[in-house]
Parts: sequence; structure tokens; C-alpha cells
Amino acid sequence: MKRKNNLTRVAQENEIWDLAVIGGGASGLGVALDALSRGLKVLLLEKSDFAKGTSSRSTKLVHGGVRYLAQGEVGLVLEALKERGRLLKNAPHLTVNQPFIIPLYTFLDRWKYSIGLKIYDWMAGSLRFGKSRFISKEETVKKLPEIRKKGLKGGIVYHDGQFDDARLALIIAKTCDEMGGCLLNYANVNHLSKDEAGIINGLEFRDLLGKKNYPVKAKTVVNATGVFADKILQMDNPGAGKMIQPSQGVHLVVDARFLGGKDALMIPSTSDGRVLFAVPWQGKLVLGTTDTIRKKPKMEPQPLSSEIDFILETASNYLDSAPKRKDVLSVFAGLRPLAAPKEGSTKTKEISRSHKVIVSESKLITITGGKWTTFRKMGEDTVEAHYKIHGMAQQKSTSAEKKLHGYTLSQVKGHLQWYGSDAARILQLQQENEDWATPLLENYPYTGAEVVWAVREEMAQKIEDFLSRRCRILLLDAKAAMHMAPKVAAIMAKELGKDEDWIRQELEEFYKLAKKYLIH
Ligand SMILES: Cc1cc2nc3c(=O)[nH]c(=O)nc-3n(C[C@H](O)[C@H](O)[C@H](O)COP(=O)(O)OP(=O)(O)OC[C@H]3O[C@@H](n4cnc5c(N)ncnc54)[C@H](O)[C@@H]3O)c2cc1C
Repeated sequence: MKRKNNLTRVAQENEIWDLAVIGGGASGLGVALDALSRGLKVLLLEKSDFAKGTSSRSTKLVHGGVRYLAQGEVGLVLEALKERGRLLKNAPHLTVNQPFIIPLYTFLDRWKYSIGLKIYDWMAGSLRFGKSRFISKEETVKKLPEIRKKGLKGGIVYHDGQFDDARLALIIAKTCDEMGGCLLNYANVNHLSKDEAGIINGLEFRDLLGKKNYPVKAKTVVNATGVFADKILQMDNPGAGKMIQPSQGVHLVVDARFLGGKDALMIPSTSDGRVLFAVPWQGKLVLGTTDTIRKKPKMEPQPLSSEIDFILETASNYLDSAPKRKDVLSVFAGLRPLAAPKEGSTKTKEISRSHKVIVSESKLITITGGKWTTFRKMGEDTVEAHYKIHGMAQQKSTSAEKKLHGYTLSQVKGHLQWYGSDAARILQLQQENEDWATPLLENYPYTGAEVVWAVREEMAQKIEDFLSRRCRILLLDAKAAMHMAPKVAAIMAKELGKDEDWIRQELEEFYKLAKKYLIH
């Protein structure tokens, strides 16, 4: 996946792409993957880095959504459970089976959640991750050592999946690249072109690094820009109304000792009627999330103080020694691209989480809503719309069976497991150069070899690309990420052929960004 080659391809070849996809998050990558699986020619353009938006800021669950089942969204849950099973089959190196425990403090809860989760198990059918079951108070405490013991009656264990969202985006991008797709990060779409009848026939994008504009011809343009979808819709039709309602979700990352075990905690009903998770992830504990309506979409949404307090307060009701503000290692926020509610309603809980494919008069296709878990199905539905608008017979989609880049069943130990079969090549880089084998920072396993790999094979262009999405340290421990930054910048500068000025500017930009992930 080489940016230079892909840019040359776009500039030199006067090809007409079947699909030009705007947006390199879960939705856009799902569209690209499905289209390529049908033999279509695909260009994907991302204005920042792959998964820079919402797709690197999720709760990291591959799930049907127990909460949506409680809300009666049976179709959505069924679809997501099916996709969850597919992801485990196609990317076993990146999807793990994560047990969750609902602690029980009343006997009524035991029956309520037992029945609900049996239905959840049954809906997953043969793609079930494991059977839900009641466990005693003693077993609950053994699995969740820090759970509040006073009044505890037992727990219910159920199973869902967990993944690394940004890394999944990268391996889908790499899979697409291997299938002949052309993907570019730092490529901002700034214009849609139309024929005399007003039908879209291409676009223009700006290479934000080379500072040059490129025109592109395409049979179909797909708007997969998440919370930014309205901007593209207004580029198409300046009079287009508001379709997206951003809803913010915040996560706090703290030391794993605050829960103490390997199982995750699910709090099914918080004071505002939502659910809250405490999930062990990459050696830390992720607490979240919230659901707060925000007026405008932002690339770096900022957590509200009230959201941080809500998470800490809720956690303190369930943990014996709960984390405080000073214990938070990193805080990150993401925006859900929910469909805007009908006038008068402002409750995000009432807005459907299922995805929508919308075809504009100009034949621009917009894919919006949905969740990471269903990215592939969202892609399939979008590509079907492409065939429909052109009145063409469909080529068969094979994305449901496509094994993703790095697929392997024999995993290495430690954090390199997330790289799947690429782990062997990273270990090889460590052997080539001693400097690349030493950890970038004490107490963390990441090495220079991963930085080199990210530049050479994963299109990393800025130090943030590595520190936030190739390795997840910015989200795990923002201060540690700041300490690692100079070494990362030096290695990247050498690989990319950049000078001292570049290093200085990158570090300045990164420190400014990293401070936003700290609680003051
Ligand atoms: C707090 C939170 C927790 C979540 N947890 C889960 C979970 O645990 N499991 C799950 O399945 N789902 C979860 N989701 C949902 C899931 O993360 C989202 O549905 C998904 O990531 C949305 O992807 P997207 O591609 O639509 O949007 P994005 O990831 O935001 O991607 C859109 C991309 O478009 C790019 N773009 C915008 N304008 C342009 C332009 N002009 N030119 C080029 N590119 C452009 C942006 O830079 C961005 O990268 C969660 C969501 C949130 C907010």
C-alpha cells in the first residue's frame, strides 16, 4: 500500500473508476471491499488518515448490541450478530471473544437479564460466541475482583467480540489494495463534477501533502463521510437539508487494576437509562460511553466535563476502589453519525442506529448510520445501489467470505498478535536493525520496527498516524505517547526523507493534539 504509487496511478491513468468513495472510515472501507469483491474498479479518498474520524474512537466491540435488543431493534441485532460471526471467521487475528459480566444486585435482575441474553444467544445461532450463564457471587468476584461486593447476588456472563478499530480499518485498506483498489489518505474531496443532465460523473480532490488538485472520472460517487455527510450533500446540492445528527460518545482509559480481571463489566442501566462498559483492552481498561447531542461535526471532538464526571460517577457505583480524574491516562471522544431526528425530538436514544443508503437526484450515493460491526453489510447495500442506479446486472459479492489481510490462525504472543501474519515481518525488521528492536518507551512493548513498518507498508505520513492509529498509545496513555513522539519522529523522518524542520513541526502539532487527550 504505497501512497506515491497510488497518486501516480490517479494522475497518469486516465481511467474511469466504477466507484469513487469519499471517506476512509468503516463505511467507506466497507464499500470499497464489497465493490472490489465484485470486480469493480475502486478509488477511495480520505481527507485525513484512515479511521481518523469516528472509526478509531469506538468502544472496540464487535457486537450485536444487547442494548438495541432491549429497545426492540431485532432486525438490527440479527444483522450485526451475523456480521460479528463473519468478522471472527475472516479476521481471527483481530477479533477476540470477550466475556462480559452483568453484576446482579436484585433477584428480579437475574431473570430479566438471563432471559434477554438467552434470546441474544439464540439469535446468533451457529455464529454464537459462547453461552450466557448465571454465576454465583463468589465466581463474579473471582472474575471481577474490584466489583462492588455489598449487596451483590451474582452475575450473568455473556459473550461478544472485541477488536482494534483503527487496525481493522488498516487491514481492510490493505486487503482492498491487494485486490486492485486505489486508496489515498490526506486526499480531500473539494468538488463534485456533473454532466449536462446534472448527474455526477466525477470529483476533484486535493492531495493535502503534495498541495495539488486532481480531477477524477467515476461512474458513481459514494459519500461515506460519517458525521461530515451533510457537507458532501451540500457540495452536491447547496440547498440540501440537514440529514446527520452528531452524537458524542466519550471513553476514559485507566489502569486495568481498577477492574482487576480479564472479563469485562457491563452496566445495563445507568442513571440516564443507558449502558456503560468497562472493558480490558490492550493492557488498560476502557470505560464508556456517553451519548450527547453535538451541533457540529468535528475531526477532534472534545469531551465535556459533565461526560467525564458521569462515567466516573457511574463506575464508582459499581467498583470498590473506583478511578478518579487523576487516574485517567487518556480520554477520547467520537461522534456517531446518526440520522437526524424528525423536528421536535432531541433524544438520541430514539434515533435508529441502523444504516441508510440514500440516492440523491444527481445519483450521488450516501451511506450513513450503522456501526463498525456491520461495515461489510453496509458496503454490500451501497454497492447494490450502484448497480440499481445504472440499471446494470449485479456481479456477485464475495466480501462475506473474504479473508482480511494478515489472516492467520497461528498467533504470536503479545501485542504483535494484532498484526496477524505481518508480525513475522516486523520481527524480521527487528533483527535487521538493533535500534528498531528496543522499545520506544520503558514499560511499553512498541518498537521502532513498527514505526518503519507503518511508513513502508501502512501509509503512515505523520507521527500522529503511528501514535494514534498504527499503535494505539495516544488512546491508551497520552503522556506516554508524548514521551515516545521524538523517537517516532526521528525514525519516520529518516524513512520519509524529511528534515529537522519537519520533525519540529510534527512534534509541535502532536503535543498540541495529545494535550486534548489529557484531563487537566
Ligand atoms: C463513542 C462511539 C462508540 C462506538 N462503539 C462501537 C462499537 O463498540 N462497535 C461498533 O460496531 N460500532 C461502534 N460505534 C459506531 C462506529 O464507530 C461508527 O458507526 C463508524 O465508525 C462510522 O464510520 P464512518 O466511516 O461512517 O465514519 P468515520 O469513521 O467518521 O469516517 C468518515 C471519514 O470521512 C472523511 N472525510 C470527510 N470529509 C471528507 C472529504 N471531503 N474528503 C475525503 N474524506 C472525507 C473523514 O476524515 C473520516 O475519516 C461507536 C461509535 C461511537 C461514536
